[in-house]
Amino acid sequence: MQYISTRDKARSVSGAQAVIAGLAPDGGLFVPGSFPALEGGLLSEMASWPYARIASWVLRQYFDDIPASAVEDIAARAYGAQFDDNAIAPLTELFSGQYLLELYHGPTLAFKDMALQALPGLMLESMRLTGEKREVCILVATSGDTGKAALDGFKDVSGTRIAVCYPASGVSAAQKRQMVTQEGGNVFVLAVEGNFDDAQTGVKRIFADASIAGALDKKGIRLSSANSINWGRLAPQIAYYIYAYTRLAQSGLRSGEHADFVVPTGNFGNILAAYYARRMGLPIRRLVCASNANRVLHDFFETGEYNSRRTLYPTLSPSMDILISSNLERLLFEAAGRDDALVNGWMRSLRETGAFRIPPDIKAWMDGVFSAGWGDDGATLASIRRVFEQTGRLIDPHTAVAMHVTQRLRSDDTPLVIVATASPFKFAADVLEAIAPGEAKGKDEFAVTYALAKKAGCEVPERIAALEGKPVLHTARCAPEGIESELMRWLNN
Ligand SMILES: *Cc1c(COP(=O)(O)O)cnc(C)c1O
Repeated sequence: MQYISTRDKARSVSGAQAVIAGLAPDGGLFVPGSFPALEGGLLSEMASWPYARIASWVLRQYFDDIPASAVEDIAARAYGAQFDDNAIAPLTELFSGQYLLELYHGPTLAFKDMALQALPGLMLESMRLTGEKREVCILVATSGDTGKAALDGFKDVSGTRIAVCYPASGVSAAQKRQMVTQEGGNVFVLAVEGNFDDAQTGVKRIFADASIAGALDKKGIRLSSANSINWGRLAPQIAYYIYAYTRLAQSGLRSGEHADFVVPTGNFGNILAAYYARRMGLPIRRLVCASNANRVLHDFFETGEYNSRRTLYPTLSPSMDILISSNLERLLFEAAGRDDALVNGWMRSLRETGAFRIPPDIKAWMDGVFSAGWGDDGATLASIRRVFEQTGRLIDPHTAVAMHVTQRLRSDDTPLVIVATASPFKFAADVLEAIAPGEAKGKDEFAVTYALAKKAGCEVPERIAALEGKPVLHTARCAPEGIESELMRWLNN
């Protein structure tokens, strides 16, 4: 499989090169040259395959440059005993015909683990294949969950280092504690004053600066990315859509029958993987993009204009507090019939004016696949409360946004899967506030966690409980302009 850039389709690289580079040199994103087909017969067969085997099949299609045995090994190690559920991504029925795809059973309790447990293996194989002798330094901007998942995946992986920048204001108490207590000899965690877009913009500036790359090269270091702009993040995510569909089949879905998926969306990585699964032939009818009050994507799908000139609101679903949704560029590339000149034009307009508009024919193409909805914090809390009252189950605020949108848009009884992206215990204070208003007041973050578990009659996840005794190891903090010097200082040590 060859990969091409969304901004220059004449440029093509191997899967291994795409994973190491992260971003294409022209600033575009790598996309597969074609989509492997998922035949109906194979899909039926997969109903009896465990998760790791489905993931391995997907990765083999997209990384045919990596030996099959190595890919199998990566998948087996990525989706193993570090998950607290044997199914890896259990699909459970919440309401009749409405299922939750629980993607939060990995080591950091958010769906980012589904890709970031596999990415280090893909990265190491890619380094071996391309003869990369330099140390690879993974630089990540996180809205909360990617950072911890990347730290967990890359900690003490030989030949790599990992630096994570998180917004000082805008991550939950548990998310922050997970990161600042991170152990490992090759890790660096930096609080950036500002929101996620500030952190992401600062990190993107470093990636785009050839003089930084040159200086690092002299030290034998190469920068790479573990954000969802990296193809190595997206490919593993395709697997859980296929997996979910095969489990729907186990609970009575007829062969070839369609299902809808509702995805709480920020940087558009998760829902894009669903679109790719659909392109491969997975019987998905509609993909529903769910946004919080930062509804730039919702407005884009409604109007055809992407307009990032607006205030970013901090919400209860911080991993979706994003105005520049990077992976949308990959969808635009497909919507435009892979016309790289059109994509370049829109991206230039976005850079220069903060906005762009797609023509009606391309908007119609989008309408054929995607729907969009949004919900504010009030809707988020109401959704958590409703699900708890009606089913006794807890959902996190991101999943709650998707739940709210589901309730608003559902119009028939096509089976529908809501993608559950984080454990409610990563956002314990807000979830407790939703189901028992006032009870979180005056309690510290751990007391809140135990109060939530008691209320819901369940256990605090082991990994959250374990945070309580861990020392804070990372206190570095800077303004967005200071990321480069902090990074250099760390790399020089
Ligand atoms: C990252 C994240 C999202 C958004 O996913 P994208 O791939 O950026 O669209 C939603 N919910 C949670 C909990 C997340 O961590």
